[in-house]
Amino acid sequence: MGMGVENLARRVNAASGGRLKIKVYGGGELVPAFEVFDAVSRGTVEMGHDASYYHKGKLDAAQFFTSIPFGLNYLELNAWLYYGGGLDLWRELYAPFNLVPIPCGNTGVQMGGWFNKEINTVADLVGLKMRIPGLGGEVLRRAGGTPVTLPGAEIFTSLQTGAIDATEWVGAYNDVAFGLHKAAKYYYYPGWHEPGPGLETMINKAAWDSLPPDLQAIVETTCQAITTDMVAEYTHGNAYALEQLIDDPDVELRPFPRDVINLLKSITADIVAEWVAKDPAAKNIADSYYAFLEKSAYAQQVTEQAYLDIRS
Ligand code: CA
Repeated sequence: MGMGVENLARRVNAASGGRLKIKVYGGGELVPAFEVFDAVSRGTVEMGHDASYYHKGKLDAAQFFTSIPFGLNYLELNAWLYYGGGLDLWRELYAPFNLVPIPCGNTGVQMGGWFNKEINTVADLVGLKMRIPGLGGEVLRRAGGTPVTLPGAEIFTSLQTGAIDATEWVGAYNDVAFGLHKAAKYYYYPGWHEPGPGLETMINKAAWDSLPPDLQAIVETTCQAITTDMVAEYTHGNAYALEQLIDDPDVELRPFPRDVINLLKSITADIVAEWVAKDPAAKNIADSYYAFLEKSAYAQQVTEQAYLDIRS
């Protein structure tokens, strides 16, 4: 995922003829990975790259702009952000923090994750210890499981030693690179918890205002290009990584049973309803998000989904 932001820096530099240079630091180099929001807000750095669902606890409503379980897919998230008022709501939400958010990257629908226990019925979720962040983790907890949060670097060992029963990460492309197929047998799909997570670039308001309009346009247009580029790279990489997994005798790909999905979906609806009832900022965004989802669900069914069904 770090390649997206390296690409952003390189392309902005090229498109601006060297007038705007972005220097990329990894998580922990300048500030800890989970403190990017505060660092850009304070102006310690002028720009940051992140996923807005990591601001959970500080700014819960921001989760809508990354991913919501059973929510918008990649195509729909972009539709809502650029044409459905989503980006305006995002900018409003971040304005009190002196931050200008710009969508920048998307992984497409993720995979359900790597499991060392079979999930055949809803009872198999009870006691399941799984690395799964955010709202998805809360859903698992209510289904009887134990969600844990682990930084990427600790996932493989935790799964291999049995400290956790399961983990989600991204999709085949990233998961194979991480070696997760060597630490678990069952690869479940689809990623109900992250149907098309979008990443963000955050820019400190003062730094943004100091840019002339042409450089602002270069940054916004390049961020949009990075989203397209990342989806292209992931779609390509996932296809080849999945082929490798299908050929691996130690790995079994499985869909989640329908009963399990139905339970997770109904818990998600309960959790979102309870959350937005007590969080006015989330309610405002949720109203817009779900109004679009409701319209789009049918359109997706008779276009993308119908086409994929006849092709398979
Ligand atoms: Ca994930």
